[in-house]
Amino acid sequence: MSRIRLLSEQVASQVAAGEVVERPASVVKELVENSLDAGATHIEVAIRRGGISSIRVTDDGCGMDRDDALLCLERHATSKIRTGADLAAIRTLGFRGEALPSIASVSRFRLATRERGAEAGTEILVNGGKIESVRECGDAPGTSIEARHLFYNLPARRKFLRTENTESSHVQHQLMLQAVGHPGVGFVLVEDGRTVWQLPPAAGLLDRVRDLAGADLAAQMIELARCDRAGITVSGLICKPGVSRATRAGQIVFVNGRPVENPILNQALREGYHTALMKGQFPVTYLFVEMDPAAVDVNVHPAKREVRFRDGIAVREAVVEAVRAGIESGRDRWRESFRPVAGLPAAPTFRADWAGAAGVSVGVPVPDRDNAPEPELPIPVPQVSPSPPLARPGAPEMPAASQFRILGVLGKLYVLMENAEGLVLVDQHAAHERILFEELRKRMETGAAPSQRLLIPATVQVPPRDADWIERNLETLAAMGVAIEPFGPNTFKVDGLPPFLRCADPAALLRYLVDELRRTSGASSKMRLGEDVIAKTVCRWAVKANDALREPELVKLVEDLLACDLPYCCPHGRPTMIQISFDELERKFGRRV
Ligand code: ADP
Ligand code: MG
Repeated sequence: MSRIRLLSEQVASQVAAGEVVERPASVVKELVENSLDAGATHIEVAIRRGGISSIRVTDDGCGMDRDDALLCLERHATSKIRTGADLAAIRTLGFRGEALPSIASVSRFRLATRERGAEAGTEILVNGGKIESVRECGDAPGTSIEARHLFYNLPARRKFLRTENTESSHVQHQLMLQAVGHPGVGFVLVEDGRTVWQLPPAAGLLDRVRDLAGADLAAQMIELARCDRAGITVSGLICKPGVSRATRAGQIVFVNGRPVENPILNQALREGYHTALMKGQFPVTYLFVEMDPAAVDVNVHPAKREVRFRDGIAVREAVVEAVRAGIESGRDRWRESFRPVAGLPAAPTFRADWAGAAGVSVGVPVPDRDNAPEPELPIPVPQVSPSPPLARPGAPEMPAASQFRILGVLGKLYVLMENAEGLVLVDQHAAHERILFEELRKRMETGAAPSQRLLIPATVQVPPRDADWIERNLETLAAMGVAIEPFGPNTFKVDGLPPFLRCADPAALLRYLVDELRRTSGASSKMRLGEDVIAKTVCRWAVKANDALREPELVKLVEDLLACDLPYCCPHGRPTMIQISFDELERKFGRRV
């Protein structure tokens, strides 16, 4: 007895729908993608009860004639590709010709569409994949598609839907991705009759992000200069160092206009940020990677969420480069904000109560404060301008970096400063870590890492696996200031250590270093390896939170910080400085809404 049967078109569609249509958000995604492919400039999405009760997407795109409107409900009907070869160079968001029949097979479906200039439009009603009626309609040019009672005919699937709120947040996330990917298109989101978003067509990505995510987040972003490398273009926004999230949710990357998830891109972002990103944290990005469609396979995931690159290394390098350049440019703009405040004494002024606080020296020459006259509040100090110094009679010249005003220290940790934009808080411990880190790295680069001879050299025996590793990394260890040489089987002699490692037990230290270096040995280069270890170890040496610094030390700390390559975060990616703008203060004090 034969058992194999061809599935009916309707059942086949329901099976296919299992892949494409997971929840209301996937319907929204497919419909909005179709609208974008149709060249729409305005798209309205209206949902009820999180989309479970109904989803309607209306656009002002090219519309369809009657024949196409009927055809688009057939499986494998698409206007976007013709031949197998076209699959290798997809420029549209859709190409499978599966979304509409799939959605129509699991909902009560209405399609109304009209080409521009056509006398009338076409309305088609479908119920669970069966066409119920086809008639003329007078809808506006464009297309409106409504899917009601999702999975009404598949109770098993319907059970998998979450609460209205959860489904609604998935819809919002989908729509947010599309809106970010297409800033020039206007979007409206209506939920249960209430307009939730109204996004006018924006001039650019930054405007769109501001409209969507608020001015505060937008102000935290660095705009990348469009960067072209081996046919791969990278552009968009990345967050400033020190701004990050505990999940990847804010890390949005588009490849050829499509939001995707891809491990190569994830690694490239991390590598690009390097020490500007805390462990276990993720950047906030709106990154756009553009390349020849033939260089990327988008046909690897039913919901087109994943892509595969032909040349992953080239993509990775392009992204790393763009992010690095972006962070550098961000630093220059950040320094700009430390220009002198108009009408303010630009150099540091000190408050009597903390100028005399007991302090520890961090290598800054400290004037004999006992003999210095008690300063008044504030000390009259010379005005400083970036280029020619203001000719104030008798005013000594201040170093150019002193273009800030120190107000005091909070909780023995946070230095309070004023700049043109408002209040700046500096974490003195994080700042010192950053300064030390860069100093040691520089010395490592020039091969001049400080190494302090041990009075009594230590011999250390290690397990064979570690011995092998140490042998291969002697150079890296030497560059870090660890003077070490083989001394018999699985044994090494250590006779010098970096001075900042104040350490009584060289054997324990060596084991610690090997473990640390091993753990980070996914890192790309010897240099990077050393950097990671430096970052971990400077922590021990850096100024501790409650080391009370005297004012000249504070000034020096801030000046040194400003001179760093990456001043705004410590080597672990924690922020060194936080800016609270006058704007924000005014809002907090209710002077402004
Ligand atoms: P795909 O997008 O993969 O081609 P779909 O099932 O999503 O498959 O859509 C089938 C076809 O219907 C599309 O190729 C397109 O020609 C047409 N279509 C769908 N939505 C719209 C729309 N909003 N405006 C104009 N044409 C549309
Ligand atoms: Mg489609």
